[in-house]
Amino acid sequence: MKTKIINSADKASGEILKGGIVALPTETVYGLAADALNPGAVLKIYETKKRPDFNPLIVHVSGISEFEKYAVSIPNAVYKIAEKFSPGPVTYVLSKRNVIPDIVTAGIDTVALRIPSHPLFREVLEKCGRPIAAPSANMFGRISPTTAEDVLKELNGKIEYILDGGRCPIGIESTVISFEGERIFVLRHGFVTKEEIEAVSGKEVTEIKESASKISSPGMLKSHYAPLTPLYFTDNIEYFKNKESSVGIIDLTVYGNLREAALNLFADLRAADEKGYDFIVTKYVENKGLGRAVNDRLKKASSGNVIIERDKVTFLNK
Ligand code: AMP
Ligand code: MG
Repeated sequence: MKTKIINSADKASGEILKGGIVALPTETVYGLAADALNPGAVLKIYETKKRPDFNPLIVHVSGISEFEKYAVSIPNAVYKIAEKFSPGPVTYVLSKRNVIPDIVTAGIDTVALRIPSHPLFREVLEKCGRPIAAPSANMFGRISPTTAEDVLKELNGKIEYILDGGRCPIGIESTVISFEGERIFVLRHGFVTKEEIEAVSGKEVTEIKESASKISSPGMLKSHYAPLTPLYFTDNIEYFKNKESSVGIIDLTVYGNLREAALNLFADLRAADEKGYDFIVTKYVENKGLGRAVNDRLKKASSGNVIIERDKVTFLNK
């Protein structure tokens, strides 16, 4: 199959309505989109990405008024948070209605709903008049794509169309939140921070760690967003800067602020991966606000809890 980069939202919508899958831009990262109400089309997403069937997809809708069509018992906090952050990079996990096929939610009784703000994606949603399921448009476990060219590198020959909307303006995924009684949980850190959600909802927000079983998100895997080149943490990045060897350096602190660090995270990972280094070293950014989302991606992209200093390699957990 030849993969074509296209610019027409009309064409992309037509393909989705026919039961096809199309990669398209969102404000976060590129998504691989299908009609969420068409199980056969959604199956193509799982097959193309080689995504495990236990990992549910986010369903995108055009506005908050659509939520009641696909979810029940929507807490008031959703409306409060959505007023401030939707359209935008927040995903709400809610009790699902039967109209959402089981394959979309990997058989669980909740559905993750998001209202994207990217104008091209919104045009596709309007034209389709259907909810659209879309995970990131990369092979499962690999680096998320933030340009049409990245998608081409990931899925060349595997899909027919990539709708080109230029570079994603945010560059890091949405914040996934869920609700239980009065409580709010962050299942995945993303562009909107825990503190911002606390401020607008007036409620305390609890982080769910991978190990927590009860309310955890099936997509919270240890390894994700990963380059093929081993990625290690170092507490001495300066040492590698002066070294003439095949070591890539990803230092997101050089961007000066967390927004820029998040924007460049996947692009830097991909660029370093393409250089064919023996390994790449990196370090965490400050672990607060948006820094948590960035560090979460770095941790999952790294091949282990390894710290390298000069010629001393310390394997933690080994
Ligand atoms: P992505 O594959 O990058 O689109 O990420 C989607 C994220 O949302 C994954 O971490 C999924 O596990 C999570 N997710 C989607 N649907 C649900 C759901 N119903 N309950 C909990 N997490 C979900
Ligand atoms: Mg993904």
